[in-house]
Amino acid sequence: MRDFSQDHHWLSLNTATVRKQWSLDRIIDECARRGIRAISPWRDQVAAVGLESIARQLRDTGIALSGYCRGGFFPAADAAGRQEALLDNRRAIDEAKTLNAPCLVLVVGSLPGALSGQPHYTDISRARAEVHDGIAATLEYARQVNMPLAIEPLHPMQAAERACINTLEQALDLCDELDPPAPGEGAATAHEQSCDLGVALDIYHVWWDPKLAQQISRAGNNPKKNRLLAYHVCDWLTPTRDLLNDRGMMGDGVVELKKIRAWMEQAGYRGYSEVEIFSETNWWRRPGEEVLDTCIERHCRVV
Ligand code: ZN
Repeated sequence: MRDFSQDHHWLSLNTATVRKQWSLDRIIDECARRGIRAISPWRDQVAAVGLESIARQLRDTGIALSGYCRGGFFPAADAAGRQEALLDNRRAIDEAKTLNAPCLVLVVGSLPGALSGQPHYTDISRARAEVHDGIAATLEYARQVNMPLAIEPLHPMQAAERACINTLEQALDLCDELDPPAPGEGAATAHEQSCDLGVALDIYHVWWDPKLAQQISRAGNNPKKNRLLAYHVCDWLTPTRDLLNDRGMMGDGVVELKKIRAWMEQAGYRGYSEVEIFSETNWWRRPGEEVLDTCIERHCRVV
């Protein structure tokens, strides 16, 4: 396993972690100042400053992306809505290309309208079918422009509003169905290539899964290519007080971070560990400088 204790070479910052404190251009400057080599920005943060301006700033600072957040939300109330979702995912892919992202992260969506409290239907299998079709259509364009798609399974507590893909196994089943191994592609090249369709593994969503080790191994030892495209870290607090915005700083909760990273690395993952903390009552209220410095210190000590 790689030694993270001496530096923060493999730390990436998901920029939602300090979204309440700073705009994205300031976040990039603060990361550059601290030697953080990669970020994963959100579309709204990019749009607020301007896509071209952010692309230029990334080039000037030498900061890379570990992913781009996010595409997805495929299910909709009607055909027009589903078409609009496909167009929006295309735009997200184009932005990801402009920013030179290694993958576009997909939060796939679920019951349309549920996020605003008014679900248009309640059939989650229908939502899963629409997700299947939406990813299939998006994958065609993503392949043309060479932008890998990373499905992020979300904790089942978010199954109604945000994602009807809730385990790593379910995400990998869909990957195998939509992006099957081609004949002749052997395991010898498995760790050297990224694939068209893979997964973003966020420990907050999957740490509890009894099949986690087994499925991480499956993702890495895919007969085609390694499907592990991104790795997101934070911690699970006890008690958790909010279903979305009460993530903990690494080391403050119950997730065995080093154990999970060991599984990731045994499966061939060599990318960044991306710190992604949504914290309404704690970290979003602290000075951004303190948040970043704490992320670096914890990354060295407990990730
Ligand atoms: Zn995540």
